[in-house]
Amino acid sequence: MLRRSIYKTPAQLRSMVEPGLITAASLDAVRDMIAPGVTTGELDAAAARIISGRGAESNFQMVRGYRHTTCVSVNEQVVHGIPGDRVLEPGDIVSIDSGAQFRGWNGDSAITIVLPDPSRPELVAERETLSQVTEGSLWAGIAAMATANHIGEIGAAIEAHIAASGHGYGILRDYVGHGIGRKMHEAPSVFNYRTPDPGPRVHPGLVLAIEPMVVAGSEETFIEDDDWTVSTVDGTSGSHWEHSVAIHDGGIWVLTAADGGAAGLAPFGVRPVEIG
Ligand code: MG
Ligand code: MG
Repeated sequence: MLRRSIYKTPAQLRSMVEPGLITAASLDAVRDMIAPGVTTGELDAAAARIISGRGAESNFQMVRGYRHTTCVSVNEQVVHGIPGDRVLEPGDIVSIDSGAQFRGWNGDSAITIVLPDPSRPELVAERETLSQVTEGSLWAGIAAMATANHIGEIGAAIEAHIAASGHGYGILRDYVGHGIGRKMHEAPSVFNYRTPDPGPRVHPGLVLAIEPMVVAGSEETFIEDDDWTVSTVDGTSGSHWEHSVAIHDGGIWVLTAADGGAAGLAPFGVRPVEIG
């Protein structure tokens, strides 16, 4: 059987810039409107408006059986929450995952936002820390990709970052990052932890969606009765951050960040280079 290479050509990498930026813009729209009192369905609609307004399509709607533009996961929900009429409350930790397909190429990205709650400062601080450590682990993984020989170094960096935080957070084992291109989900898998297998080589043409899914307690999860939502068994909070990232001849570029990842990579001494 003929296997398509996991490595893209320079022209294919250029085709992935716009869907990445549209995906980023859809999450910016969510960021702008999220607040207590807003429903998860309204967040979904905001992302959908941006994606269709820029001439793109929702790639989540191309996943069999899924009708929404985003996944919105609240509190003990870690990933794959279905947007609807749930009203967000003060102190909620909300992970939003979005993706756009533009001219046949895909972007995929996720953010976590903690809503303010002046009456519960400790809860908000705990959830902020979980989100910050998760986002930090994403950037540690992206920074590792910039110089890695093999994909396995990315997961090792993510795991090390989370362990170094000293909070005893769990990392989901059953859900992983992935290659991305013509399809939203392509080979190879990108684990969020150290594995015995070093995995495929990192070299120009590789595009990965890196997406740590981290929980405040045990990593044990279950799927809710809606057949989608992944929630923690112990009820502790989850956080999910994701970017689509390309390695090209000039270096690394985060496709789903408007600045190519410059701000997130700066603490690691890595400077992204625009895809030429
Ligand atoms: Mg995603
Ligand atoms: Mg993904």
